[in-house]
Amino acid sequence: MTVATSDKLFPAWSIIIYMATIHLVALLALFPSNFSWGALGISFVLYWLTGGIGITLGFHRLVSHRSFEVPKWLEYILVFCGTLACQGGPLYWIGGHRIHHKYSDTELDPHDSNKGFWWSHMGWMLCQNPARTEIPRYTKDIQDDPFYQFCEKYFIPIQIVLGLLLYWWGGWSFVIWGIFVRLVVVFHFTWFVNSATHKFGYQSYESNDNSRNCWWVALLTFGEGWHNNHHAYQYSARHGLEWWEIDLTWMTIRVLQILGLAKNVKLAPKQ
Ligand SMILES: [Zn+2]
Ligand SMILES: [Zn+2]
Repeated sequence: MTVATSDKLFPAWSIIIYMATIHLVALLALFPSNFSWGALGISFVLYWLTGGIGITLGFHRLVSHRSFEVPKWLEYILVFCGTLACQGGPLYWIGGHRIHHKYSDTELDPHDSNKGFWWSHMGWMLCQNPARTEIPRYTKDIQDDPFYQFCEKYFIPIQIVLGLLLYWWGGWSFVIWGIFVRLVVVFHFTWFVNSATHKFGYQSYESNDNSRNCWWVALLTFGEGWHNNHHAYQYSARHGLEWWEIDLTWMTIRVLQILGLAKNVKLAPKQ
């Protein structure tokens, strides 16, 4: 691979402004006049739908690792839910994640955890990312799909449409909680998988990197915190491999399997 290493770091101003704006607007939730129980409820449902169903089930276990198969229409619904998390488009997210696994915790890993907690949590994305030019090599299976291209190109306008729908439904409190607070929460919970689970917790398997199993990240991310298991068995649809390693996304995949919607489910040898 020919990507440059990060000896020289240049700020990615568009992403810095994007992230700062979302975080600052989310602070409006601190004003009691912007709170309602309905807004909190819609925020929680969208946290599950975008973080759990979209990012964890769709972007990660289904597409990044192809750990099971679903009908194309369902794949598109899951990818659309992931797009609503506004963590870049699906090609950027999935390509970047595949690069992370290939070069985990080495100089070529976009969020190499040896560079510290904050770098792996969010610092890496606030700098120009030399690995970004390599993404097309890692997304050959999806990059020509018009639906993926649509989500890649329009993930911000799609979020704006969702915001307008929420405003129409419940006013500013729905927008502040359902868009901005929920985006910040799902951002940081997802980023904990790159930072906390490469630093805190236990290692059950030799995975040749710093990945760890961390219970509290697993609870926040619908099972993604069993990250050492995942690095050891990347193809496995099930990440929580011991009985105490609760994995809500694996339970979801089991439901899809029982309904006949998930097929060819791949599992680590222990199962
Ligand atoms: Zn992964
Ligand atoms: Zn990792």
